[in-house]
Amino acid sequence: MDEYLERIKAGSLKLYALEQELPPAEAVALRRRYIEDETGVSLAKVGSFSISVDRAARKNCENMVGTVQVPVGVAGPLLVRGEYASGSFYLPLATTEGALVASVNRGCSAITRAGGAEVRILRDGMTRAPVFSTRSVAHAREVADWVAVHHGEIARAADETTSHGKFLGAACTVVGTSVFVRMEFDTKDAMGMNMATIASEKAAGVISAATGARLVALSGNLCSDKKPAAVNLVRGRGRGVAAGVFLPDGLVSSVLKTDTPSLVEVNTRKNLVGSAAAGSLGFNAQAANIIAALFIACGQDPAHVAEGSLAVTTAEPAGGGVYVAVTLPDLPLGTVGGGTGIETQAECLSLLGVAGGGDPPGTHARKFAEIVAAGVLAGELSLLGALAAQHLARAHKALGR
Ligand code: NAP
Repeated sequence: MDEYLERIKAGSLKLYALEQELPPAEAVALRRRYIEDETGVSLAKVGSFSISVDRAARKNCENMVGTVQVPVGVAGPLLVRGEYASGSFYLPLATTEGALVASVNRGCSAITRAGGAEVRILRDGMTRAPVFSTRSVAHAREVADWVAVHHGEIARAADETTSHGKFLGAACTVVGTSVFVRMEFDTKDAMGMNMATIASEKAAGVISAATGARLVALSGNLCSDKKPAAVNLVRGRGRGVAAGVFLPDGLVSSVLKTDTPSLVEVNTRKNLVGSAAAGSLGFNAQAANIIAALFIACGQDPAHVAEGSLAVTTAEPAGGGVYVAVTLPDLPLGTVGGGTGIETQAECLSLLGVAGGGDPPGTHARKFAEIVAAGVLAGELSLLGALAAQHLARAHKALGR
């Protein structure tokens, strides 16, 4: 092994190229030793893990030296009444924020005692929007007009690149001489960002060849991937899903320790008026908290929390109680591909009954989306309740520090 270290130090072997000469586990261990030697910092804990590096070092992480571990707690049981998720679930939440799991757990209890969260998928489609350069605004309009009437041709090219993905449509935005073609794909159980990118490249070639528009970048930011953008809030991206529950007044007081008018007022003044005053794109209390914890536990791309947080929470008094709902227009998630195959993450997906591809394809990702939405609803109920009852600081003092 010392021979490899000498070659790295001499510059004749690149640190990132160790896997070309050694099995992944040895390459990772040697790279860690090199970094420890160079920096004088022990990475003993980073180097102690249970996952297999064969796949992770090849597919998920270049220059791998080990792992970090994040505590995982469970919240539940959570009763979900969706079209794909039906039954009781324990949510695996990976977090270091004390009080978060307890908070979601309380929301799960309220939902389950109320008979479960009703959940529906509203839309489903991953987007990629290449940007093209054109000669003039007239040429730009011609390109947009061509795309509008040639969906069949674009679909044939895009669908050749994948056996699961399907082109759903494209919407053009013209800004001066730039044309953005926001293409949308049904990616079944995959989150689909790689799939959509590969399909978009093929489709962009067809558009360029037919119209003379020059492809500038395969991603033109109107997608919008990993940015909190209004286009995603309005048109949606990934899975769009809504979850709601009717809580009778008695449950609001026994589980959330507040009353219906106070809960509704906090939601209106905080989630709606406060978010509007802040110019926020998310009108919710803590959607990002639940999405981040579930995404990290379940092998999702955590950068997509930026999109998942574009959620709107509503609370309406309704005959002896309150109907609380969360609507998530932009939830990019999947149960195959990305980090979903890493053993610990796959176990967490299994806990929800959604590991791997569904039968038929797409049903696992939709079930997962419904469970995430119900989890977000649990987090909203609990935090709204804590704020209405003036308990927030007390809970954090007791549990978080
Ligand atoms: P992927 O692992 O690249 O692709 C999913 C694969 O699973 C496809 O090869 C698909 O095959 C196969 N598959 C098998 N069973 C399936 C089923 N039931 N449903 C759907 N597909 C099935 O994953 P991805 O979701 O497209 O991309 C996720 C990764 O992209 C993450 O690692 C994320 O971090 C990364 N990412 C990439 C970009 C980018 O611009 N490229 C941006 C953001 C994030 P077929 O295609 O042959 O059907």
